[in-house]
Amino acid sequence: MKIIDSHCHYNLEPIFSGKPSHFSLEDNNPLLQMTWKNHWQKALEKNVTGAVVVGSNIENSLSSIEIAKNNPQIVAAIGIHPHHALDNSLEEFKTFFENNLPHPEVKAIGETGLDYFRLNKTTEEFKRTQQAQQKLFRLQLQIAKRYKLPVIVHVRDDSEDAYWETLEILKQEYSPDLKFVLHCASGPTRYITEALSMGAYIGFDGNIGYKNAGDLRSILKRVPLDKILIETDAPYLPPQGYRGQVCEPWMIAETAVYLEKEFDLDLDLIYKNTQEFFKYSFEKK
Ligand SMILES: [Zn+2]
Repeated sequence: MKIIDSHCHYNLEPIFSGKPSHFSLEDNNPLLQMTWKNHWQKALEKNVTGAVVVGSNIENSLSSIEIAKNNPQIVAAIGIHPHHALDNSLEEFKTFFENNLPHPEVKAIGETGLDYFRLNKTTEEFKRTQQAQQKLFRLQLQIAKRYKLPVIVHVRDDSEDAYWETLEILKQEYSPDLKFVLHCASGPTRYITEALSMGAYIGFDGNIGYKNAGDLRSILKRVPLDKILIETDAPYLPPQGYRGQVCEPWMIAETAVYLEKEFDLDLDLIYKNTQEFFKYSFEKK
């Protein structure tokens, strides 16, 4: 069994350097003594042979590049998550990408997309946020096309708005060689099927095994086998059995085994899908 974690955050705390950040960890929690290197070692012991470290702002995108340096099995994705859309001007973000895309470790753009979860949509402030998120998403899709890099798309909303708007932007920016994954699958079925018709890959996380995740499992059944990727999104979304804890990158093995057992998925095929999506970047930089 070989597994590639197609979306994880060795660049975020508490994984990066053992700082608790916003997680509440007891003083004796072993995580506080670990850095991303210990986590990578633990993952290697669970047959994880590759990982994509995904950026969500400028600072942690730079950490992704640092982590991927001298680690041929780890590649970096650089990107600005919609939550950070107002951190800088569009021009500044553009300059950030232009300065950092030449790094050979950068093999994808992301995460980028739209996230309106828990936002009050009736305010002026929301309109500003929405507009900034959309412009920034478009910018990252355009950069991805120019540099021929795959894109990691993040969408979250408590209504369907962000999903349909994402689809609309993807359609407008579509080109046959634009490769994208809808990371951490969610959203209306028709949105998923339309994205699949544009060649989308769909990423599944530890939450696929949650008791209340029936909708997610029915999405999984609709995705062609050659479009399925798996991911931890560590430190978020620990698999069932580890809920309430920090998701550690090795836990991708739990999700892999769950998918193999419950859905009879061929893990070698998922490995192949991941290699294909990231253009065989692992171990080949
Ligand atoms: Zn993520």
